[in-house]
Amino acid sequence: MFSKILIANRGEIACRVIKTAKRLGVKTVAVYSEADVEAMHVHMADEAYCIGPAAAAESYLRGDKILAVCEASGAEAVHPGYGFLSENAEFAEACKANDIVFIGPPTNAIISMGSKSESKRIMEAAGVPLVPGYHGADQDLELLRSEAERIGYPVLVKASAGGGGKGMRVVREASEFDAAVAGARREAKAAFGDDHLLIEKFLDHPRHVEMQVFGDTHGNYVHLYERDCSLQRRHQKVIEEAPAPALPDDVRAKLHDAAVAAARAVDYVGAGTVEFLYQDEAFYFIEMNTRLQVEHPVTEMVTGLDLVEWQLRVAAGEPIPLSQDQISVKGHAFEARLYAEDPQRDFLPATGTLGHLRPPVEEGGVRVDTGVREGDAVSIHYDPMIAKLIVWDHDRLSALRKLKGALERYQVVGVATNNAFLTACASHEAFENLELSTNFIDRHRDELI
Ligand code: ADP
Repeated sequence: MFSKILIANRGEIACRVIKTAKRLGVKTVAVYSEADVEAMHVHMADEAYCIGPAAAAESYLRGDKILAVCEASGAEAVHPGYGFLSENAEFAEACKANDIVFIGPPTNAIISMGSKSESKRIMEAAGVPLVPGYHGADQDLELLRSEAERIGYPVLVKASAGGGGKGMRVVREASEFDAAVAGARREAKAAFGDDHLLIEKFLDHPRHVEMQVFGDTHGNYVHLYERDCSLQRRHQKVIEEAPAPALPDDVRAKLHDAAVAAARAVDYVGAGTVEFLYQDEAFYFIEMNTRLQVEHPVTEMVTGLDLVEWQLRVAAGEPIPLSQDQISVKGHAFEARLYAEDPQRDFLPATGTLGHLRPPVEEGGVRVDTGVREGDAVSIHYDPMIAKLIVWDHDRLSALRKLKGALERYQVVGVATNNAFLTACASHEAFENLELSTNFIDRHRDELI
């Protein structure tokens, strides 16, 4: 095991990683921007170094400064969390060149899975089912147009380098196609510096079901079961749960096999997520994320495992701690993402000081992953997530009830939050009755906002 690691992140995920490192007796090094001098992750770590101004491009995204802190502090490995440099192949390579372990998969896996098109070519060859579509290298507009005709409208145009729903356009009919492609290209170029597009059949009532996988440097691969993240707003997850409810046994088994085949196909090492859409008893690969996901705690709650511990062990060269038949699911877990944003103003991010902040007590299956305390500011500089509220109980309904109760007890004054919206989602009869689809929020908008 490492004796000291650096956490190249901030907020709840930096705190989350530090917690596990402490438990394992691993020393921790935080990095922070000038806006985060008093931040919780800075206080929790054994050492902390300022790496630049508030703007992430000048601090949390500066791989060179982070590597300089590794050198100065003697950290042997870097945990990138999610976001920022977590899926940046150049940074992973730079770590390697400096003899620092990047706690993540090999660079090749980051590169191939970072391209939705390339990942689809690899998954297709591995026999993993794909959404019908086009993911070729030829980007000629005429060709894309004829591919869209072949696939059949409605289609979804996506940026191959995409993430966070950027560069994505639903196209309902041929007359809208050229404008959608131009728009998606512009957005993709601006956000990712890469305007390659792919086209998928637009599924009209899919569920988002994803698999947690792990690989190690000894050629072992396991899955840690599924999560359902269908409750989304504008293609972004709002509430997640594990395991995915109401899947036929044979589908679930095939999904598990497909996820392990996917990990194997890219010689995966560490924690990864293979994302699928599920509709009408069939599932289709959409992408693989080569990092720890925001929603990993629901998997931890139902498996009883610490995924950050596994990441550290595997990165240190140890084999995966358990074999597939030793990993099982117990009960049901939900996670709700509490954001500083105003649902009444089209979910506009909110800023201000958390003048009064009382999370529910963490006991009896309630867990709060946060990176802020009372008195902290929510600034414009970073993702406005205040906390992840995670609950566990013996069955889905009990867990859902627990989630509602915990949301109601979560007190935040000083900054607008989406708590009422989350509570409305968690309380909705249709959600309770397993009406699961990525359209849920649009369909029930009037009752939720
Ligand atoms: P990103 O990487 O930008 O998050 P993804 O490809 O992971 O994009 O898709 C994000 C979400 O968009 C999915 O969870 C789903 O809700 C929706 N989506 C993606 N592909 C399709 C599709 N072919 N049909 C319908 N919805 C889709």
